[in-house]
Amino acid sequence: MAKKYRIVFDRDTCIGALACNAVAPDYWTLADDGKVDLKGAKKRDDGKWELVIDEKDHVLNTEAAESCPVYAIVVEEFEE
Ligand code: SF4
Repeated sequence: MAKKYRIVFDRDTCIGALACNAVAPDYWTLADDGKVDLKGAKKRDDGKWELVIDEKDHVLNTEAAESCPVYAIVVEEFEE
């Protein structure tokens, strides 16, 4: 079975450094307030944004997470 990954984005922590957008612009899009939005993500009860991704997109988004200076992005594996 294919591994599943999810991106968890703490938008409150984001300072709009845009490093994630430079790495993965198809996922991290510029927003009007100078921060980014995670395209297609849903807001969770804890206020963070979550998007499930396939294994093929996990490397790119892990690079985006590592580029973020304030660690607002986490990519984690999970089981269904
Ligand atoms: S790299 Fe981090 S701080 Fe910069 S826009 Fe992306 S999530 Fe926000």
